[in-house]
Amino acid sequence: MSLIKLIRNVELYGPEYMGRKDVLIVGEKISFIGEDVQVQMPDVEVYDGDGMVAIPGLIDPHVHFTGGGGEGGFLTRTPELKVSDCIRNGVTTLVGCLGTDGVTRSLENLYAKSKAMEQAGLTTYIYTGSYRVPPVTFTGTIQRDLVLIDKVIGVGEIAISDHRSSQPTFEEILRIVADARVGGMIAGKCGVVNFHVGGGKNGIEYLFDIVKNTEIPHQHLYPTHMSRNRALFESGLRFAQGGGFIDLTGVQPGEELKKSDFTAIDGIVEAYENGLIDRITISSDGQGSLPRFDKDDNFTGLDVGSVGAVLYTLMKTVESGIPFPEAIKVATVNTANVLKLKGKGKIANGYDADIVLMKDWDVNAVLCRGEFMMKNGEIKDIDFEH
Ligand code: ZN
Repeated sequence: MSLIKLIRNVELYGPEYMGRKDVLIVGEKISFIGEDVQVQMPDVEVYDGDGMVAIPGLIDPHVHFTGGGGEGGFLTRTPELKVSDCIRNGVTTLVGCLGTDGVTRSLENLYAKSKAMEQAGLTTYIYTGSYRVPPVTFTGTIQRDLVLIDKVIGVGEIAISDHRSSQPTFEEILRIVADARVGGMIAGKCGVVNFHVGGGKNGIEYLFDIVKNTEIPHQHLYPTHMSRNRALFESGLRFAQGGGFIDLTGVQPGEELKKSDFTAIDGIVEAYENGLIDRITISSDGQGSLPRFDKDDNFTGLDVGSVGAVLYTLMKTVESGIPFPEAIKVATVNTANVLKLKGKGKIANGYDADIVLMKDWDVNAVLCRGEFMMKNGEIKDIDFEH
């Protein structure tokens, strides 16, 4: 495998449109972007990007990569994520979390899975905690987890306004956010709290109250599932207007939508129209369970969330008239900003060489930190996925 790679003649979106360029990669990093780049070195791997579009590797900030679900009994536990699913869908960086089940799903398992996926080539982080308050932790406290455990960049998903939440009080939530902030400061990490926001009537009232009544800034409050319904999304837009970031849950590929459904596609379009697209991110909720019920609310089966929801939703927003560079921001630069991920989210000199090459708008090649994980539509063999 060559350590120096030259991708020739791609239409480059970094995410802003940069024209037809050559991209020189040395080791894990993007070293130079220019036209007609000449490299006088032996052993340079040249990849012809003619007819292809290059975008930064997508960042998915909310994935149940050790599986999730279980709300319909043990049979409804969902399986672990495959690295190949991420690659196929252009996702190169992920943040893993537990969910409803903080009993049989452990942080230790989440950590091990994040290490495995990293060794396979992806970039991974995790949140400590689960739905429940007080949160499960590795070391006994959120602060110690953030400071002492490399992979932990925040806390989540902490459930609020949901029948499955632990009905946390405002003070309990406030303490978690305060601990995340200080732990993040000490460790040089974002220290966000990723809130699972359910369909309950209180929505993100706690978050507005924190900003209004304490010194804690918006940046630590990162609510997800904000495209659950129109009312919640509109409160999210107000939160964004005040300086916050919100995360939308992408539409699953092939998901049947009713005209009346509000979705992340609508959310991105409206954020764009309101000049707030820089405050929006999107995640897949990948490997979470999507239970199906009959008309009497009996459980009839479930689907498993796909990390493909991110790319699928972005492409749908482009069909709805959002300019392509604006659409891809919500899964690249914006997410890197919220999570303070250095070297991620852009195709630029000195950044990690996480690049997705698309042909006819399908993922055709993927580089993760300078390594081809997919080439000409073929995914690299990943040892532990047989
Ligand atoms: Zn959730």
